[in-house]
Amino acid sequence: MKANTAPKGTKKVPMRRCVGCMESKPKKELIRIAGYEGVVAVDPTGKAKGRGVYLCPSGQCLEKAKKKRALGRSLGMEISQEQMEKLLKDMEFYEK
Ligand SMILES: [Zn+2]
Repeated sequence: MKANTAPKGTKKVPMRRCVGCMESKPKKELIRIAGYEGVVAVDPTGKAKGRGVYLCPSGQCLEKAKKKRALGRSLGMEISQEQMEKLLKDMEFYEK
Protein backbone atom coordinates (compact mmCIF):
# COMPACT_ATOMS: atom_id res chain seq x y z
CA MET A 1 0.00 0.00 0.00
CA LYS A 2 1.39 3.36 -0.97
CA ALA A 3 0.39 5.98 1.52
CA ASN A 4 3.42 8.04 0.75
CA THR A 5 2.76 10.90 -1.58
CA ALA A 6 6.16 12.53 -1.54
CA PRO A 7 6.82 14.44 -4.74
CA LYS A 8 9.12 12.82 -7.23
CA GLY A 9 12.75 13.71 -6.98
CA THR A 10 12.69 14.17 -3.23
CA LYS A 11 13.31 10.57 -2.47
CA LYS A 12 12.70 10.03 1.19
CA VAL A 13 14.63 7.21 2.72
CA PRO A 14 12.44 5.21 5.06
CA MET A 15 14.00 5.15 8.47
CA ARG A 16 13.65 2.52 11.12
CA ARG A 17 14.99 2.29 14.60
CA CYS A 18 17.22 -0.52 15.72
CA VAL A 19 15.79 -2.08 18.89
CA GLY A 20 19.33 -2.78 20.07
CA CYS A 21 21.19 0.52 19.91
CA MET A 22 18.04 2.63 19.36
CA GLU A 23 19.61 4.47 16.45
CA SER A 24 17.50 5.42 13.46
CA LYS A 25 18.92 4.19 10.22
CA PRO A 26 17.76 3.72 6.66
CA LYS A 27 15.51 0.70 6.57
CA LYS A 28 17.61 -1.04 3.98
CA GLU A 29 20.63 -1.01 6.28
CA LEU A 30 18.74 -2.84 8.94
CA ILE A 31 17.63 -6.41 9.23
CA ARG A 32 14.04 -7.18 10.04
CA ILE A 33 13.23 -9.78 12.62
CA ALA A 34 9.73 -11.10 12.29
CA GLY A 35 7.68 -12.81 14.94
CA TYR A 36 4.72 -14.87 13.92
CA GLU A 37 2.81 -17.53 15.80
CA GLY A 38 5.51 -18.00 18.37
CA VAL A 39 8.37 -18.22 15.91
CA VAL A 40 10.96 -15.53 15.43
CA ALA A 41 13.15 -15.44 12.38
CA VAL A 42 15.43 -13.15 10.49
CA ASP A 43 13.43 -11.76 7.63
CA PRO A 44 15.77 -10.58 4.88
CA THR A 45 12.89 -9.83 2.52
CA GLY A 46 11.13 -7.61 5.05
CA LYS A 47 7.88 -9.18 3.97
CA ALA A 48 7.38 -12.02 6.39
CA LYS A 49 4.10 -12.27 8.21
CA GLY A 50 3.69 -11.03 11.69
CA ARG A 51 5.14 -8.23 13.69
CA GLY A 52 8.59 -7.05 12.93
CA VAL A 53 11.41 -5.23 14.59
CA TYR A 54 14.53 -3.86 13.03
CA LEU A 55 18.11 -4.42 14.04
CA CYS A 56 21.49 -3.43 12.73
CA PRO A 57 23.09 -6.41 11.03
CA SER A 58 25.23 -6.94 14.06
CA GLY A 59 25.34 -9.54 16.78
CA GLN A 60 26.07 -6.74 19.21
CA CYS A 61 22.77 -5.04 18.60
CA LEU A 62 21.00 -8.35 18.86
CA GLU A 63 22.73 -8.92 22.20
CA LYS A 64 21.66 -5.48 23.36
CA ALA A 65 18.10 -6.15 22.32
CA LYS A 66 18.27 -9.46 24.10
CA LYS A 67 19.53 -7.92 27.34
CA LYS A 68 16.81 -5.32 27.28
CA ARG A 69 14.25 -7.94 26.32
CA ALA A 70 13.33 -5.48 23.63
CA LEU A 71 12.75 -8.14 21.06
CA GLY A 72 10.09 -10.06 22.90
CA ARG A 73 8.46 -6.86 24.05
CA SER A 74 8.33 -5.36 20.58
CA LEU A 75 7.11 -8.56 19.02
CA GLY A 76 4.65 -9.22 21.79
CA MET A 77 5.84 -12.74 22.42
CA GLU A 78 8.15 -14.84 24.50
CA ILE A 79 11.43 -15.66 22.86
CA SER A 80 13.03 -18.81 24.14
CA GLN A 81 16.73 -19.23 24.68
CA GLU A 82 16.79 -21.64 21.75
CA GLN A 83 15.19 -19.18 19.40
CA MET A 84 17.51 -16.45 20.56
CA GLU A 85 20.53 -18.59 19.81
CA LYS A 86 19.20 -19.38 16.39
CA LEU A 87 18.66 -15.70 15.72
CA LEU A 88 22.20 -14.91 16.79
CA LYS A 89 23.48 -17.57 14.44
CA ASP A 90 21.35 -16.33 11.56
CA MET A 91 22.46 -12.79 12.22
CA GLU A 92 26.09 -13.75 11.71
CA PHE A 93 25.21 -14.42 8.12
CA TYR A 94 24.16 -10.81 7.58
CA GLU A 95 26.80 -9.21 9.71
CA LYS A 96 29.06 -6.88 7.83
ZN1 LIG B 1 21.77 -1.18 16.25
